[in-house]
Amino acid sequence: GALAVAAARTRNGAHARNGGRPCAAVLGEPLPAALDDGLGLLVHPSADFAAGALVSSTQQYREMYQRSIDDPAGFWSEIAEEFYWKHKWNPDEVCSENLDVTKGAIKIEWFKGGKTNICYNAVDRNVEAGNGDKIAMYWEGNEPSDDGKLTYSELLDKVCQLANYLKSVGVGKGDAVVIYLPMLMELPIAMLACARIGAVHSVVFAGFSADALAQRIIDCKPKVVITCNAVKRGLKTIPLKDIVDTSLAESAKNGADVGICLTYENQSALSKVDTRWKPGRDVWWQDVVPNFPTKCDVEWVDAEDPLFLLYTSGSTGKPKGVLHTTGGYMVYSATTFKHAFDYKPTDIYWCTADCGWITGHSYVTYGPLLNGATVLVFEGAPNYPDPGRCWDIVDKYGVTIFYTAPTLIRSLMRDGTEYVSRHSRKSLRVLGSVGEPINPTAWRWFYDVIGDSRCPISDTWWQTETGGFMITPLPGAWPQKPGSATFPFFGVQPVIVDEKGWELEGECSGYLCIKKSWPGAFRTLYGDKDRYETTYFKPFAGYYFSGDGCRRDKDGYHWLTGRVDDVINVSGHRIGTAEVESALVSHPKCAEAAVVGIDHEVKGQGIYAFVTLVDGVPYSDDLRKSLIMTVRSQIGAFAAPDKIHWAPGLPKTRSGKIMRRILRKIASRQLDELGDTSTLAEPGVVDQLIALSDS
Ligand code: ATP
Ligand code: MG
Repeated sequence: GALAVAAARTRNGAHARNGGRPCAAVLGEPLPAALDDGLGLLVHPSADFAAGALVSSTQQYREMYQRSIDDPAGFWSEIAEEFYWKHKWNPDEVCSENLDVTKGAIKIEWFKGGKTNICYNAVDRNVEAGNGDKIAMYWEGNEPSDDGKLTYSELLDKVCQLANYLKSVGVGKGDAVVIYLPMLMELPIAMLACARIGAVHSVVFAGFSADALAQRIIDCKPKVVITCNAVKRGLKTIPLKDIVDTSLAESAKNGADVGICLTYENQSALSKVDTRWKPGRDVWWQDVVPNFPTKCDVEWVDAEDPLFLLYTSGSTGKPKGVLHTTGGYMVYSATTFKHAFDYKPTDIYWCTADCGWITGHSYVTYGPLLNGATVLVFEGAPNYPDPGRCWDIVDKYGVTIFYTAPTLIRSLMRDGTEYVSRHSRKSLRVLGSVGEPINPTAWRWFYDVIGDSRCPISDTWWQTETGGFMITPLPGAWPQKPGSATFPFFGVQPVIVDEKGWELEGECSGYLCIKKSWPGAFRTLYGDKDRYETTYFKPFAGYYFSGDGCRRDKDGYHWLTGRVDDVINVSGHRIGTAEVESALVSHPKCAEAAVVGIDHEVKGQGIYAFVTLVDGVPYSDDLRKSLIMTVRSQIGAFAAPDKIHWAPGLPKTRSGKIMRRILRKIASRQLDELGDTSTLAEPGVVDQLIALSDS
């Protein structure tokens, strides 16, 4: 708990600026036989699972990790050799970097001099290896009766046709293309087609408003916008094309006049005749793309040429335009996918993330296809027609790897286990979680109920900026502690620093930074080098600063404690919001919780907790007291919430994360300072919370 953390900071004061090293438990000391994770026993992978795993013991992990740190150039070159390069990189420039703002401009370059193409590696290479008939993608529509599939050869044909079309309208290397599509197979196809011709894609989540889309179009000035006429989510039809029309009109007034809006006709949602149309600008996909040849030459690009631009979720403020390049991202997304999910060629892999987020880039599209995997793309909503949909899909396709977010796990948990247990789920072998810290209670439910206590969980900590996993279990290698993201991926050197930038060693808690670059690192914020350096490299000179807080326990396991802006200091105790939320959610009547700090005359800061209750449970004074008691007994009296605010719903980003910055303003009644709310999924929730403030 947090008390133990506070004590550890003074007890283990040993630290060394830039001289720290990864915790001993990572580097070679054997794990003690029994560990105290505060919640009971360690969770070991079964002997069978470990025996068949790519990395099957802590010892093997340690050796590989050590090598990746001692000789990053050698380690990553060997992996990069497995891909196709038109020209090999300069052997003495595998990585060149400067992460220290005091020594000049920030620079990160990998595989300099190399020429390759990520589309070629993700698609053509699999066909050429004889896997043309393997299913690349299964597609499951909004309606359970709607589905489809593509083999690798068919995928290649479709990608080439679209690439040829884009070339025919003048899109070339370095040009931006905005993609505003729901989870149709055309979405990854469009990403790959751009990559094939060296164009830079910027996918905008198709749940964003016209304003949010316009903002992004104005920022990157695409030659083409790719969309579809409409989409159905559950019972709701969303007229995407109308939204695009509004944002294109808005963008044109702001210096971004987009010449072409390529529109896929999504017949199941809306007919052609009912779609608003601007002749000259708007083009039906089905009218043009199928007429193009199914062969299209690859544009060989430099390893450091841009691959895509993607805006962050906007949990902490205005979204940042993260730019990724080609070579390093390719090697990193593929390698992290392979190891964190212990990928086998027979796997059927399903990630519930939308391609509008980084997770959909690295772990729906690029990572899996680069490994020749079979990926499931799901258009619909996880609770339509009922909350058993996910397990229906798992059984229908025989899904073996299921990767999702804590927000979905908590919501399915609230719906009850009967929706789960009536499906077999026996095909599942690995589970994954991303997006927020996963509370131990949700972890347990995911593990025991969804995975029948058989499937290891990869709790992957990473960011849009990191391109791929940074701290994650390797499922066959580590015994797990529910709620911990465990250990760093190969080549990643996480350090925990204090306010002054001193590296803390051993058991500690503080700001999570990364010490050296890794191949998947982003290279800049588009058009804003200053914000890039200020946000990530200036807070702690010499390090990449993640913005997240982290605790390392005595065994070297990493526990993400939430955003550092969210750390609450109560009478000198630093308390991570995630820890208090975990305690609240462990209460059987609490479905979700979000904790923020408020000014407090005596304690400096007090704890203000928003709680959502399990369906049908009424809020009462007794329940309030019992929630507070739960926190007191699990963490300590100092962490007891000063105020419990009943919340029928919480403000979330469209990617499902709780927006604590808005809750902070509500808690402190600064209602005119709510800030950027354009990434909110349901703006109505905010008014509802304000109305309930004084209940
Ligand atoms: P913005 O940067 O615009 O505020 P964001 O940080 O939510 O938005 P993303 O890049 O999508 O945008 O999310 C990365 C963040 O999500 C991490 O910094 C971390 O706070 C959180 N996160 C992701 N995975 C995990 C995880 N497994 N455990 C804990 N936190 C996680
Ligand atoms: Mg962020």
